[in-house]
Amino acid sequence: MNRMLKCSVALLLFASWLCGSSNVIAAEPAERPVQTRRPFAKLQPVPFFEVQLNDGFWGARLKASRETTIPHCIDQCEKTGRIKNFELAAKKLANNEDGNYIGLWFNDSDVYKIVEGMSCLAALKKDSELEKQTEELVKLLAAAQDEDGYIDTYFTIDRRDERFKHIYEPSRHELYCMGHLIEAAAVRYQATGHKDLLDVAIKLADHIDKEFGPDARPEVPEHEQLELALVGLYRATGEKKYLELAKWFIDQRGVHVRRVSFGSENQDHLPVRKQKEIVGHAVRAMYLCMSIADVYVETGDKELLEACRNLWESTTYRKMYVTGGIGATGHFEAFRGDYDLPNLAYSETCAQIGLVRFAHRMLQIDPHAEYADVLERTLYNGTLSGISLAGDRFFYRNQLISDGKYCRSAWMDCSCCPSNVARFVPQVGRLFYSTDPAKKSLYVHLYGNGSCETMLGDGKVKFAQKTNYPWEGHVELTVTPDESREFEVCLRVPQWLRQTETPGKLYHMTDAPSAEEQMTLKINGKPLSPGKLENGYCRISRTWMKGDMIEIDFPMPIQRVYSNQKVQENRGHVALQRGPIVYCVEALDIEGQLDSVVLSPETKLFARHRPDFLGGVTVITDKAEDLESEISKKSSLLAIPYYARDNRGSTGMKVWLPEKKVSD
Ligand SMILES: [Zn+2]
Repeated sequence: MNRMLKCSVALLLFASWLCGSSNVIAAEPAERPVQTRRPFAKLQPVPFFEVQLNDGFWGARLKASRETTIPHCIDQCEKTGRIKNFELAAKKLANNEDGNYIGLWFNDSDVYKIVEGMSCLAALKKDSELEKQTEELVKLLAAAQDEDGYIDTYFTIDRRDERFKHIYEPSRHELYCMGHLIEAAAVRYQATGHKDLLDVAIKLADHIDKEFGPDARPEVPEHEQLELALVGLYRATGEKKYLELAKWFIDQRGVHVRRVSFGSENQDHLPVRKQKEIVGHAVRAMYLCMSIADVYVETGDKELLEACRNLWESTTYRKMYVTGGIGATGHFEAFRGDYDLPNLAYSETCAQIGLVRFAHRMLQIDPHAEYADVLERTLYNGTLSGISLAGDRFFYRNQLISDGKYCRSAWMDCSCCPSNVARFVPQVGRLFYSTDPAKKSLYVHLYGNGSCETMLGDGKVKFAQKTNYPWEGHVELTVTPDESREFEVCLRVPQWLRQTETPGKLYHMTDAPSAEEQMTLKINGKPLSPGKLENGYCRISRTWMKGDMIEIDFPMPIQRVYSNQKVQENRGHVALQRGPIVYCVEALDIEGQLDSVVLSPETKLFARHRPDFLGGVTVITDKAEDLESEISKKSSLLAIPYYARDNRGSTGMKVWLPEKKVSD
């Protein structure tokens, strides 16, 4: 019996108990609600379910997500008692049976994230088995909700009289878990039209709204997340009180009237509007930044936007690894000071996911490629590193140097990262495109095989991309409007072509060709000058006809990347990047010791695509001759994509290599 089916049977039996019937049938397909606009954002993201990534690089990741990651995570949630906790809570509320809570106190959040991931996959491709399984799981969650809307199995099972009595250290993350339920519900509703979980979320949010706020309890969540979830619920329901509560939580952070501070570890040291430096727990900081951006785009509150910009610069100009990783220390999983970026990084997978999502929000507010550049860097490197190629092994930490002792795990006691990846990958399509309804523009932020069909102005337009990106820079984009119409297509020119330095001069790279000189562009076979880029985007305005084709060729040289001299550990070191992919060297590919690998600036490097290696990757070697067998032999230099490391067993690994001239 396959795992998905086995889980289904277990859930089905429980759902039967809940319903008093042996027939649980998937509800009729629901209609998606009208997608809400963010009034103070210049761009509107094209939702992930309007973007198909059926093959190519992301097609493979989505396939792994559907066939492996989600069934694996459900299996783990069953084995570790995470789903059992909801059964126990439901039975407890029905005065049916006793039992004790199993596992860490915030384990409910993993189940919510997995429901979100399941809902997203069901929205992308009709899958009645998956939808039925999700509905059963949602029924179970609903059964674990208390009369008044409260839901947290840690308290419901064993500690019902302690509800909301553990807001302070040691916090039991009730509001964080609840936020994940609300976020999953809003995503599920927007993507599938199903209101089952939304009904639970509304009841829960109303309960929180009664308990917390200006005329009630003064505390904020210790671990941010609920704030952005409430904005999502506002968008799903149109109910303003959820937005107001989110804004109140943000404004209450750093204000310590009638409550004690959670400290800078939880970004509670200063009012949010006065915060300029990103500090404390990196995941929490990113969730806060996302929430501030969300409240800004709904309210237009300029001070909040200013805070977002300051925190963005602090994060990406001075505290970000070359992989897009953030959070340098394991001590409270936090940021360190400016340029303090030891390669034995903490860089929790969830923090990287948070940075991608923060960057995505900033990009909609201000369509500047700077945000998309960070989004792409973090997506392909720091974030993807968190999940194995097969989709069932995970990293919590994403170090830039390893002795091979810290390796991927199937699951963890604290499994925030696996469950976060499980819901993030199915939604990756939303990062690709945005529209500017006012100017009738379509923005292409990312390149990848697939298509999208969306409204632009009064009509529908379909865009299809054919490309082997991120391995090759050739992209064919077919534009198919429902009828010939004038609009603008804005194509992002990636940072490695536009600039030799990242913003803030944190990294600089060699061999960056000038975009205007070296990028080529054709429309229906006729060359077109990319012209002057505007905020990193090449804008093409014309009357588009069905089947018009844009051909782009981005050169993709191997680039040597150097850190700002203020990053102490990387002085005299070099990293390799090609396109958006950052490389590393694994000890098992190297003759002798990993420490013996030294790169000379004179060494010629060669990129070769290996379709049968690590799921199909381009490797970098120092060998001029194209040897098919080079990947099975030890070599003086074989660099693989950083995200693909630790997929052939644990081994030493390095991103930054010492650089020394041969003549030295
Ligand atoms: Zn995590």
